[in-house]
Amino acid sequence: MGTRVNRTAASEIHVKIQSLQTFILHVPVTRGVIEDSTHKLTHWGAPGVIICTENGLAGYGYTGTHAHLGLDRLITSCISETYGPLLIGEDCREGQHLWEKLFHFPPAQWVGRAGITHLALGAVDMALWDLRAKAAGLPLWKLLGGSPASRIEAYNTDGGWLNWPIDRLVEDARRLVEVDGYRAVKIKVGHADAWTDLERVDAVREAIGPRVRLMVDANGRWDLPTAIEVGRSLEDHDVYWLEEPLWYDDVQGHHRLAQQIRIPIALGEQLYRLDDFADLALAHRLPVVPHIGDMAQVHLHLAIAHPACRLLEYIPWMRDCFEEPATVEEGHFVPPERPGAGTTLKADALARYGVS
Ligand code: MG
Repeated sequence: MGTRVNRTAASEIHVKIQSLQTFILHVPVTRGVIEDSTHKLTHWGAPGVIICTENGLAGYGYTGTHAHLGLDRLITSCISETYGPLLIGEDCREGQHLWEKLFHFPPAQWVGRAGITHLALGAVDMALWDLRAKAAGLPLWKLLGGSPASRIEAYNTDGGWLNWPIDRLVEDARRLVEVDGYRAVKIKVGHADAWTDLERVDAVREAIGPRVRLMVDANGRWDLPTAIEVGRSLEDHDVYWLEEPLWYDDVQGHHRLAQQIRIPIALGEQLYRLDDFADLALAHRLPVVPHIGDMAQVHLHLAIAHPACRLLEYIPWMRDCFEEPATVEEGHFVPPERPGAGTTLKADALARYGVS
């Protein structure tokens, strides 16, 4: 009898979506003006949405941008004007169904199966996962079946910028290892003169020693002959992976490069769709190291729960925006404890960093 009463109570919980509120945050990056071979940033953008249910839950989701207000408005406009009407009245627990409903909405699919429509869909999907985990009273990683026994090591990306002089680059890398305890760091490459890149990699490797993993990121700058030449030289510096050496969509070029150099190649940072990742890494026993345009708030949950992930990027730019920011201690992430996907904003985040 008691069991029947409990089931009845559970079925009466209202989880219908009642309203949505979009937002745009522009948060200063922690190191001033930063550059890689392709981009120059002063702020990180987080256009997003708060989805509210009839029973008072609020799910937070957002995506990561270069804080271009015009483009950020296109994302929030897509959420509020295109996806919003499709979500009102739906059950937030039916996230997979809702993702399919939004992704296959013909007018949205017509204008783009990636880019702005997909970034908007990502923010909505994140908010729905946050709601599901909150409705379950669990942190997302636990809802997904993960365990804190799966420790996630952090590698630091808040250094190694291309516009830094070599002295600052080396000093910062040494500090990350000796003071902050990281055992993996990444630096940018892709100068017009490849010898400058090699000189900087050599200096950082000498500073951090042979036992710390060193990754390099060219952000899609090189052509194939340059990538082969530099890639072979980087082998002498024990580089753990070479990231986005060629144009982002050049799958064949990266395949040919992989046959020419011994350093593993990492890519996918600017790919959006399931179709782009059809060659599933786990099925081939390859490691997956997610990027974190979300500042690791959600990806930490996913990494804990996913068997292919044991290393995750760390960037602290939005630390003071979240109620439970991703935290690294002695080179490893601390498993989040609060129910949800880690995306809940502090009460004052919109007032401090919100733009419209
Ligand atoms: Mg990258």
